Amino acid sequence: MESVESVEESVKPAADVVATFLTAKGFMPLDEGMALYAAAFEAARLGLPLLEIGTYCGRSTILLADAARRAGGDATVLTVDHHRGSEEQQPGWEYHDPELVDPEVGLMDTLPTFRRTLHAAGLEDRVIALVGRSPRVAAVWGGKLGLVFVDGGHTDEHATADYEGWAPHLAEGGLLVVHDVFPDPADGGQAPYRIYRRALASGAFVEVSALRSLRVLRRTGPGI
Ligand code: SAH
Ligand code: MG
Repeated sequence: MESVESVEESVKPAADVVATFLTAKGFMPLDEGMALYAAAFEAARLGLPLLEIGTYCGRSTILLADAARRAGGDATVLTVDHHRGSEEQQPGWEYHDPELVDPEVGLMDTLPTFRRTLHAAGLEDRVIALVGRSPRVAAVWGGKLGLVFVDGGHTDEHATADYEGWAPHLAEGGLLVVHDVFPDPADGGQAPYRIYRRALASGAFVEVSALRSLRVLRRTGPGI
C-alpha cells in the first residue's frame, strides 16, 4: 500500500485529493507525485501560472492544482494535451486503455475522464485545459510561467518541441520539471533524459532535486 506519511506536513496534498489521485487513471506514481507537488507548491509562490504538458486523465494535474491552491496565492494551472493519446497509448500498444476510446470517432479521447478527475478533486476552478498539440499552443503563448512540467510525448520530436516551445517562457527562478528521465536506456526511452541534459548544458538551469525519474531544475538565467 502506498503511503504519504513520510512527506512533510506543509507540502502534503489534502487527503481527498490524494484519494482522487490514487484512483485516477494515469502514469504518475505517488512518490514522484509528491515531489512534483512540492515543486509546484514552491513555484506557485512566484504568482505565475504553472503549466503541464501531458494532461491525460488529470492524475498529475490535480497535484499541481492542489499545490497551487495550498500555496495560498491565485496561481492558475494550465494543462496541454490533444487528448488523443501518445504513440504507446494507441490500440495494440503497451499502454492502451480501451475504456478511453471514443466509440463514435474511433480514437482515444481522455478529455471526458480528465474532467471527471478534476471535478472529483474539487479543483475545476484552478485549471485551464488547453486542448491541442503542444507546439501549436506554445506558438501562441506569450506569458511568463512559474513552472513547466514536461510529461507529454516521449519521442525525441515531441520532447524536444516541448522543451523548445515552453522552457523559454519560464521566469527566472521558475522550475522545469521533467518526468520519465532514465539515464540508463534499459529503464526507458531517452528523449526526456536528453532534454534534461540539454537544459543543464544550456547553463540556464541548475538541478534542484531528483526523485527516481522526476527531475526538478531551476531557471537561473538566460541562454535557453
Ligand atoms: N501526466 C499524466 C500522463 C501523461 S501521458 C499523468 O500523470 O498520468 C502523455 C500525454 O501526452 C497523453 O495524454 C498524450 O495525448 C499527450 N501528448 C503526447 N504528445 C503530445 C503533443 N505533441 N501535444 C499535446 N499532447 C501530447
Ligand atoms: Mg510520465
